[in-house]
Amino acid sequence: MNIHEYQAKALLKDYGLPVAKGVPIFEAGEARKAAEQLGGPLWVVKSQIHAGGRGKGKFKELGPDAKGGVRLAFSMDEVDANVAEMLGNTLVTKQTGPDGKQVNRLYLEDGADIDRELYLSILVDRSTGKVAFVASTEGGMDIETVAEETPEKILTLPIDPEAGVTEADAAKLCDGLKLGGAAREDGMTIFPTLYKAFVEKDMSLLEINPLIVMKDGHLRVLDAKVSFDNNAMFRHPDLAELRDLLEEDEKEIEASKYDLAYVALDGNIGCMVNGAGLAMSTMDIIKLYGAEPANFLDVGGGANAEKVTAAFKIITADPNVKGILVNIFGGIMRCDVIAEGVLRAVKEVGLSVPLVVRLEGTKVAEGKKMIDESDLDVISADDLDDAAQKIVKAVGGAAA
Ligand code: GDP
Ligand code: MG
Repeated sequence: MNIHEYQAKALLKDYGLPVAKGVPIFEAGEARKAAEQLGGPLWVVKSQIHAGGRGKGKFKELGPDAKGGVRLAFSMDEVDANVAEMLGNTLVTKQTGPDGKQVNRLYLEDGADIDRELYLSILVDRSTGKVAFVASTEGGMDIETVAEETPEKILTLPIDPEAGVTEADAAKLCDGLKLGGAAREDGMTIFPTLYKAFVEKDMSLLEINPLIVMKDGHLRVLDAKVSFDNNAMFRHPDLAELRDLLEEDEKEIEASKYDLAYVALDGNIGCMVNGAGLAMSTMDIIKLYGAEPANFLDVGGGANAEKVTAAFKIITADPNVKGILVNIFGGIMRCDVIAEGVLRAVKEVGLSVPLVVRLEGTKVAEGKKMIDESDLDVISADDLDDAAQKIVKAVGGAAA
């Protein structure tokens, strides 16, 4: 789950981390009061969308010469004018895709005098199995670009989970970021605190781009992107409330209601599979035979007919889906339950595209019999290979 910058900053502020004073704005009428509250003389008006690159982004409605999604304002009138111009319009950035995202919230912030822009993030590093810091002196730009062009400017520092961020670790980060004086003193307390926030809040990513050294020599968190581990959200009901449904794919929201692991993709074969590994291999084999999956969908081990029905509805609601592949290995999950769910779902929503079903495992004979005896027009398959070839052929997608 992702949250907005202003929400992430409020969370970091609770840990005593240095963020600017700011006020979220939902309606243009709120701008003047917020600007007065902050006092100036420099304000920053920031679009709140779940995508980066806002500063360099362009508003669809405003033409190529208009300013981007993060704007400096030097008077209250400028704040007003920018808020009025930005709110409700569609911001297109490198990360939003060509459709862009509607800006429904702004964040008005006390502006900082920047001396240097740095990059700092904390993430789960799969290669070491540890939480790691990634730091670079090249802040304010795409870290992917830095990684490509000047990889030597990136420091990756895995943290020992038993020891946490030691003084030696913090010092290494300060060295890597070339911090001296007040900034170095700040860093020595900020880095362990960021790590604490990351672990306590079950984050999967905390990206500060840029972390700045201000003209007065101190550090400040200027931008903040936070993602949480969905599997840990049950431990954080307060954080779950920060979710902004307008930022999410409708099908993914529906799927999350039923506890289905669903990710929308660009292809045309809808997949319903149990188990993440099987789902991945199903997607791979669809690609192998020359077509593209429309989604990743793991109905999980303990799915019931209701869940299967919901999953089926989500898949068929996607207009890009030209065929459906159900690939179930019955372990804990019984094939007859899957069959019942599929039959019920088809009865409820109808079936306008070819459907290939491959069942294997517990109660497979019963499951197959139920499907065979129904008047459904189902193509049955014996194994994964067979199933993939049949669905790719059915959508006419086989290039190879
Ligand atoms: P992003 O473009 O979505 O990554 O948004 P950021 O919050 O990182 O802001 C983009 C850029 O705007 C930063 O890299 C800064 O150069 C600039 N910026 C943001 N806040 C301030 C500020 O308080 N003062 C000044 N001078 N520049 C700022
Ligand atoms: Mg940024």
